[in-house]
Amino acid sequence: MPISPGMMADFIIGIILFLLGISVGSFLNVVADRVPAGKSIVHPPSHCFNCGHSLEPRDLFPIVSYLLLRGKCRYCGKSFTARSMLVELATGLLFALAYVACGQTWQLPAALIYCSFFVVLFITGLEQGILPHVIVYPGIALALIIALLSPLTGTLPGIISSLEGLCLSFGFFFLLQGVPRIFKQSILDFGDVGMAGLIGASVGFPLVLVALCMAVPAGGLTAALLIVFKARKLNQPLQFGPFLTCAGLITLFYGNDIFDACSQLFW
Ligand SMILES: [Zn+2]
Repeated sequence: MPISPGMMADFIIGIILFLLGISVGSFLNVVADRVPAGKSIVHPPSHCFNCGHSLEPRDLFPIVSYLLLRGKCRYCGKSFTARSMLVELATGLLFALAYVACGQTWQLPAALIYCSFFVVLFITGLEQGILPHVIVYPGIALALIIALLSPLTGTLPGIISSLEGLCLSFGFFFLLQGVPRIFKQSILDFGDVGMAGLIGASVGFPLVLVALCMAVPAGGLTAALLIVFKARKLNQPLQFGPFLTCAGLITLFYGNDIFDACSQLFW
């Protein structure tokens, strides 16, 4: 099959978005490391956590620097974890995937913004078990602003859909978090409630149902398995963050397809 100019343009845009994604991923690593600890994201500049030496521009090329230095600090030889490189790579791939899913529409910049929020919250949820309010609530505000712009963009959920998604998702998790507390039990942290609200506001109603139908059973089942294998205690709060962020990403890209397929299957 001959390569058309359109295919070539798509390929070049995909590569540009991948490169943009790995650079954004590098920044998201800093946000995930510093914001939960209440530290500035600009000061001090990036440095080695072992020897404290400031990293130079040549040490900070996303992915490339890690591979060239074989995952070690140039100055003290201490090994770095591969997490930073994996986050950069994953963000690059997600940005390219966003282009495949959204094409050249106004949905694309919104998807890139949501991907960035979801990647940071995935890291903090997985590594530290927290979903910082200072990231989640500005994310919700941004999602509502993006929804307000939908009459100009055409393809995004409108403000009504976004508010419905926010209320349904936030409300459901609010009950899930609050009701057990009446009986002095704790199932969820409040960070998960805000995160659920962010997913609802970004994908809108009815797609929020797709996200919840993936995240809630997956999180619940994993928690049950961990209890069975004695890896967590019964009254320990569940960590829904990573499940919510993954469900949010899948819904962002394929929510409409999944919703249509389920609609045809069930009614
Ligand atoms: Zn060092």
